Amino acid sequence: DLAPVRRALLSVSDKTGLVDLGKALADKGVELLSTGGTAKTLREAGLSVKDVAEVTGFPEMMDGRVKTLHPAVHGGLLALRDNDAHVKAMEDHDIAPIDLLVVNLYPFEATVAASADYETCVENIDIGGPAMIRAAAKNHAFVNVVVDPEDYAALLAEMDAMDGQTTYAFRQRLAQTAYARTGAYDAAVSSWMAEALDQPAPRRKVVAGTLAQTLRYGENPHQSAAFYKDGSSRPGVATAVQHQGKELSYNNINDTDAAFELVSEFGTGGPACAIIKHANPCGVATGATLKDAYVRAFDCDRTSAFGGIIALNGVLDGATAEEIAGIFTEVVIAPDADDDARAVFAKKPNLRLLTTGGLADPKAPGRMVKQVAGGFLLQDRDSGLITADNLQVMTKRQPSEQEIADMLFAWKVGKHVKSNAIVYVKDGATVGIGAGQMSRVDSARIAARKSQDMAEALGLDAPLTQGSVVASDAFFPFPDGLLTAAEAGATAVIQPGGSMRDQDVIAAADEAGLAMVFTGIRHFRH
Ligand code: 5GP
Repeated sequence: DLAPVRRALLSVSDKTGLVDLGKALADKGVELLSTGGTAKTLREAGLSVKDVAEVTGFPEMMDGRVKTLHPAVHGGLLALRDNDAHVKAMEDHDIAPIDLLVVNLYPFEATVAASADYETCVENIDIGGPAMIRAAAKNHAFVNVVVDPEDYAALLAEMDAMDGQTTYAFRQRLAQTAYARTGAYDAAVSSWMAEALDQPAPRRKVVAGTLAQTLRYGENPHQSAAFYKDGSSRPGVATAVQHQGKELSYNNINDTDAAFELVSEFGTGGPACAIIKHANPCGVATGATLKDAYVRAFDCDRTSAFGGIIALNGVLDGATAEEIAGIFTEVVIAPDADDDARAVFAKKPNLRLLTTGGLADPKAPGRMVKQVAGGFLLQDRDSGLITADNLQVMTKRQPSEQEIADMLFAWKVGKHVKSNAIVYVKDGATVGIGAGQMSRVDSARIAARKSQDMAEALGLDAPLTQGSVVASDAFFPFPDGLLTAAEAGATAVIQPGGSMRDQDVIAAADEAGLAMVFTGIRHFRH
């Protein structure tokens, strides 16, 4: 199952490693064919190269739209070397076999990421490249196809080990990688068009990404895992720069995403901090400074914050970094970090520091994928946002200005807490978070109890839920959840409304002297 490599066609947009590869192939006696820019680069390095135009008898034309789309190329890639009719066709039409195809495509994803205009994006859809990749991959019985400069070394190593040839198993692996590339490429084109046409996510129909990182393991060590990127340029965990610390794990990536998406809700309005454990916030706060926001977030639930993931909405400074370095933290993510902060973290080599260059836009469109057995669910990301104008007061008592501000804060946090979500907030800081319970009343109880525990740990006379506001991600089906919050000391409630028993819940709120507002939208998150 060994096949020789005698003739190679190289046509690459990303010229990384090209010259070294060309030299190594030439040293092994491989004849080189190439397209315009690739041939030029190889010639400038002193290599002898044949132009594809010479092979096809046609010049490259139409701004490069037609370069390699010709039977002399595709016949050379697709002909079965052990099939008499194929061999005769090659002889009759003067087609020479091509044993190795090295192609990387027009940078369509990078062009979209750079916010290029529509026409520029269209012009960066590679046609001949994917056609050749698919042809060469189909004929992996004889042909090698390499679509990524990272694989050049493996190709050369295989040829070294096999006396200038490659094994069938090797070519099969190359073909599999090649189809992953063309699949992701067309998916990127389709997704970009869907976005340009403003189609809602569920209509996009393709979900694909490019393998960015093979992870050590998944959620658990016995699960293998990988990180795929969809080419988006939006600030977040997929586009962040990591400055120090070990490679991110599966759970780190998941939690860092949750942390950064949450803190981005607060925009640049003022310092804010979110601390995440197991994809749920265990403390979120605003503050006069980032340090203050961090300390206030930490004080919501100091026990859970240990080993957490911290997201900040501003430039991480030295004082905040000092404070964070006081306990064990897995990851810190922020739009940027100044030199002082970097110097502080440099002394904590295990701590991972990520910078994103900006905040994510909570209103931006996007899609969310959830696997189920036998398929997956696709939906728009939850970009629902409300302001004070959307609040409908349902009770006799009107909420105070402070209560309204805290309710809007609690509502933003609640959107990022697994359902059933209950969030108590006081003065722009969470003071109790109940997450992921099957019963809403349990979430309300758990959040209040955690606040009680924290008050004891901090030596306070009363839990901070006294005089707080409370947010519920979905309506209270019965008054019991609301009454639990009132018992904990909440004075105002924000919830979607819409229950059959809204009237009972409103009556209970009035009786307890609460102010309650309805948002009209809910934020389930499962
Ligand atoms: P070069 O820099 O060598 O001029 O062009 C290399 C790029 O052209 C590669 O990304 C390759 O995929 C692409 N390419 C090769 N043949 C064709 C073709 O016939 N049509 C189009 N649109 N692109 C091609």
